[in-house]
Amino acid sequence: MPRLRRQAGRLEDRPVDGPKRVLLAAPRGYCAGVDRAVVAVERALERYGAPVYVRKQIVHNLHVVRTLERMGAVFVEEVDEVPEGANVVFSAHGVSPAVVQQAADRGLHAIDATCPLVTKVHREAVRFAKQDMEILLIGHADHEEVEGTSGEAPEHITIVNSPDEVDTLEVRDPENLVWLSQTTLSVDETMETVRRLRERFPLLQDPPSDDICYATQNRQVAIKLIAPQADLVLVVGSANSSNSVRLKEVALEYGAQAAYRVDFASEVRQEWLDGVRTIGVTSGASVPEVLVQELLDDLADAGYSDVEAAVTAEEDLVFSLPKELRRDAAGGTDARARGGRMRP
Ligand code: SF4
Repeated sequence: MPRLRRQAGRLEDRPVDGPKRVLLAAPRGYCAGVDRAVVAVERALERYGAPVYVRKQIVHNLHVVRTLERMGAVFVEEVDEVPEGANVVFSAHGVSPAVVQQAADRGLHAIDATCPLVTKVHREAVRFAKQDMEILLIGHADHEEVEGTSGEAPEHITIVNSPDEVDTLEVRDPENLVWLSQTTLSVDETMETVRRLRERFPLLQDPPSDDICYATQNRQVAIKLIAPQADLVLVVGSANSSNSVRLKEVALEYGAQAAYRVDFASEVRQEWLDGVRTIGVTSGASVPEVLVQELLDDLADAGYSDVEAAVTAEEDLVFSLPKELRRDAAGGTDARARGGRMRP
């Protein structure tokens, strides 16, 4: 992702009581699913030329979307906005079978950039629906991922938005329930929802494995370590990025004195830094590192040039490209197509 044009010296270096420092969360930023989805759009543009249509924001980050738009991607809300026969990429958040069918009906060439970890939740939903179980899907009803997952088995899925909804939930058969979740929730809040569900429905079954993905969990673990030491936490991420919004909430829950989410470093206000000695910095799973570096540059202008990494995990997962893109134009295999781990 290209660097932005930074306005150096925008923030002033004002004295505080003690040394200034930044605690920089690691891991932060791009996850394997986002990296794969962004590369998929770039590869599609290289291979087919502009325009390449993308249903919904490919990932929930303003900078990524604007950059891909400049390269020739056209973002649409629904496939009926895409000219018949054109190329369309489905976003990392996944789509329901109905959307896949609509694309086929319009003769579109669809490239499915759904994150494999979202696809895993879709498969679980289909499997439990085949067993005629009722699925309690913990997640935000207006989030694209939840729309896509619930579209796999709408008759079998009830969405649970928050722990407070549990008390009023109505189910068909309390003895035949299983829960699943959106991949980008707060781990703690989800476990609280499950605890309350189990209180009401003791026979509730667990999914075979956690649905909250490794990247969401790792970023929350890192910010939990930083938050109690931070006078201020800054989360780089967009307002519609579920995991970025959760990072700000988790920071406040775990003791940060203040926390703000910003799309860009230029949104940081001078008054946020008043009296602040330690700033925690992290970024959501859809945020390119260039945006964090811009923030660190601005903070250095304000005297926060001592940057210490708070490392809680190493990530090296890489997903292979969508199958529609795995063969390069010459018929050979694209190196990025194989996936696996970057550092074995
Ligand atoms: S946040 Fe998790 S589920 Fe979402 S794209 Fe990244 S790895 Fe996949």
